Amino acid sequence: MILIKDENSVRQPLKAVFPGKYIQGKKALNELKYLTESFGNRGLLLASPSVITHVLPKYQFENGWDWIHLDTFQGECCREELERLSAKVHHDKTDVIVGMGGGKVIDTAKIVADSTGIPVIIVPTIASSDAPCSGCGVIYSGDGIFEGVYYLKMNPQAVLVDESVIAQAPTRFLVSGMGDALATWFEARSCKRSGSANECGGYATHTAMAIAHVCYKTLLKYGIQAKNDCDLFVTSEALSAVIEANILMSGLGFESCGLASAHSIHNGLTVLEETHTFYHGEKVAFGVLAGLHLTGAPVSEKEKVYGFCEAVGLPTTFDDLNLAGISRERLMEAAVKTCHPNEAVHHEVKSVDPEKILIAMKAADAYGRKRKATGNN
Ligand SMILES: [Zn+2]
Repeated sequence: MILIKDENSVRQPLKAVFPGKYIQGKKALNELKYLTESFGNRGLLLASPSVITHVLPKYQFENGWDWIHLDTFQGECCREELERLSAKVHHDKTDVIVGMGGGKVIDTAKIVADSTGIPVIIVPTIASSDAPCSGCGVIYSGDGIFEGVYYLKMNPQAVLVDESVIAQAPTRFLVSGMGDALATWFEARSCKRSGSANECGGYATHTAMAIAHVCYKTLLKYGIQAKNDCDLFVTSEALSAVIEANILMSGLGFESCGLASAHSIHNGLTVLEETHTFYHGEKVAFGVLAGLHLTGAPVSEKEKVYGFCEAVGLPTTFDDLNLAGISRERLMEAAVKTCHPNEAVHHEVKSVDPEKILIAMKAADAYGRKRKATGNN
């Protein structure tokens, strides 16, 4: 029971969201047929062309892939693609969708399933972000311009992660996922300190806070080894732990604890064209570092986080983000975007404005450069 001392205050409830089922392991894809058939018997598998070419042939069921209808993702999670697939679901009387691939395939499958009222199984083939377990998807225009976020009624009914498939993907995806997962604990902590709502419109549970903290500890313990193993395409205990941190712990953590400065600084950086070739988690990682300076984190914590980023190859300086020599004016554009009224940066305890963000970003860069110059990495 929640005791409310002040009768006049209206306390928001605790809220947490989870996928219905989470399965992770080497060759976990072997479970896909059984899992799909437990939800329906007219399945649709939406997969990217590279998954169809490189992943599916490695997994042969009794009748190959005849047990499910295959559809090739057209490349963008946009209105046209969502309408095309929704029409297909209605026409074929599809009763379960499987989305297999990277973020856009996954989001498309989630949104089509939600809008047509059928279950969805998510099979990420890279561990580059915490999107697979979440209850939202991002919609773009046909040209890839951000249009909005679609919120699902429920998180995915199942998430199936095959470690052998993730180990075959380029290591940069895994490292980017670590950058996204690195933010989880710091943003959770900020929301807790300021009493801010999480991504599902409630307060963080003790459960979610504990998961966010384990996410951080798992990265510190296994991150470097996991990167090395992924470089060699080897599945290992370390890689398994980091895949779980990137996909499950970070996914539960960010939605059920909340976002703060790291993701807003990421959003700010997206206005700078030079950063467009960098992945979400890479920019988020720099947002974490700037957030440490913004919130006055102790030196010991800065040292630990910078050391981790340097060791796994996440950006710690402007130079690492292709922003060497950027002018104050252009950096201010990113800082202004970071501080938009809708941004989670306002979940930090102290009030934030563009000037403070600019100073924090410059401090993060200076600290990173100094460490590199003195060989601390
Ligand atoms: Zn993220």
